[in-house]
Amino acid sequence: MRCMIRILAICIAGAAMMAGCNLARTKLPANTVEAGETRARLQASPPPATATLGALIREVSERTATPAPSELPPSRCDELDVDRPARQVDADVIINYQAKSARVVQAIEFHNREAQPLGEIMLDVQANQWEAGFRLIELTVNDEIAEFELDLNRLKVKLDAPLETGCRLALDLEFDLQPAEIRAGLRSYRGFFGYSPRQLNLGHFLPTVAARLDGGWRIHEPIGIGEQVVYDVADWRVNVSVNEAADTLVLAAPGKVRQNGAAIWNVELLNSRDFAISLSEEWRAAELRIADDVRVEVYAFADAQIYANGVRLDGADHVLKEAEKALALYNRQFAPYQRERFVIVQGDFPDGMEFTGMVFVGGAWFTTFDGGPRNYLTLISVHEIAHQWWYAQVGNDSALNPWLDEALATYSEYLFIEEFYPAFKNWWWTFRVAGFFPQGKVDSEVYEFSTARAYINAVYLRGVQMLHNLRVDIGDEAFFDMLRAYLSAGAGLIADPTLFWRQLPPELRALTQATRLEYLRNDDDSALFGLPEPDAATPDSED
Ligand SMILES: [Zn+2]
Repeated sequence: MRCMIRILAICIAGAAMMAGCNLARTKLPANTVEAGETRARLQASPPPATATLGALIREVSERTATPAPSELPPSRCDELDVDRPARQVDADVIINYQAKSARVVQAIEFHNREAQPLGEIMLDVQANQWEAGFRLIELTVNDEIAEFELDLNRLKVKLDAPLETGCRLALDLEFDLQPAEIRAGLRSYRGFFGYSPRQLNLGHFLPTVAARLDGGWRIHEPIGIGEQVVYDVADWRVNVSVNEAADTLVLAAPGKVRQNGAAIWNVELLNSRDFAISLSEEWRAAELRIADDVRVEVYAFADAQIYANGVRLDGADHVLKEAEKALALYNRQFAPYQRERFVIVQGDFPDGMEFTGMVFVGGAWFTTFDGGPRNYLTLISVHEIAHQWWYAQVGNDSALNPWLDEALATYSEYLFIEEFYPAFKNWWWTFRVAGFFPQGKVDSEVYEFSTARAYINAVYLRGVQMLHNLRVDIGDEAFFDMLRAYLSAGAGLIADPTLFWRQLPPELRALTQATRLEYLRNDDDSALFGLPEPDAATPDSED
């Protein structure tokens, strides 16, 4: 306990030299004057609804702990419920909309399903990459104050006793969030954790237990280019209550959303790698459309409707129609979309960003919409929809193997154009790919690039060229079979390139060799395809 208070006190005081303190590292750019002002506002604002926080803490305690503290075991090792994710997240998020800040009380239950005991738990705290973005107030493990080290997005929690195989532990956190205002420049691309005068976006804002891969924690340092997150799936149950907002406030959120009063919502999102919400007092009424039993909703501002040459163009309506078509196509070509709702939010930041069941599409693509499909409003919307398969269903390491989701999501744009606008196929290749003269190896890590353009060119654009060549090499039927097999093999997991390439039937590998040599740095067969299956050659494997 002493240790935590000491670390927090030093961090809050701004003495940034202590090892392990979250201020000891250089964070991504933020406006420090603004951050100081924001902190003052936060401290001056009324305390959060302690009754609500207390009730949640009691409810979480009742759910997770029964023995008296002196008898409390270091972990619980009762029956295994492997039908649900190893990560269960419950959170109470109390937002001050005026201050664009939040107080969060969060409970994480983590179940060790590995053969080895764990001596520490690593939490991924994306919000802490920003100066003043995250302030930890308390952290307990099984109701006891825990020692921790917080270093950018890495929150390492030491356990008094190892978490044995098959055992669970309860992590409880209380913290403040202060997203920064979305401004120009590279920082603006992370506007999914930020606010504009008319919107508050909270994406990747709840800490989660880092992914486990190859017997270790898989967590990467954030940089300004691309993405670096790697997430295992979790069940998320989040209560959102908002103070200091107009009556017109609307919540955009994925999953099952239940409104429990003015500005109070319960959101449940199961089997999801992430959890994101967005709030605005200025949304036009959410628009609905049903596609293959999926309800599509678009949350857009009035400026999504524009007039060009006397003609009214409604970007929100266009996105709804294209989303309906894309969902139906990918349902057929890839696998069924696994949720009842799909939410698209007009984001006050560039480009777009995928989350599970909800995506952001950059506001500029709405306000510059020129009608028809030949524009970024169409392509980025479709691209983010495709991430519901390539990222949300089959996951990957977005820092080390970004092509696995980005090349596939970008190629999915082409599949959409090919299906619904075949006359524009050549346009897509020129507009989206050839015009940038892409260079580089597809299987590059995000850390190899110093500009976003070079990263996109190598990973996304050379990536779609590789995928298209692969399709030509083996034919449509084998290509789509391969994509479906990859989805099936990787659903709910974090895939690596070997899982992708192993879906290529051995008899077709030679046909793809030239493509692999051209686009991949790591084109070695044993690295791509892995070792042969031990039972692949046994006579009874024929069944
Ligand atoms: Zn993408």
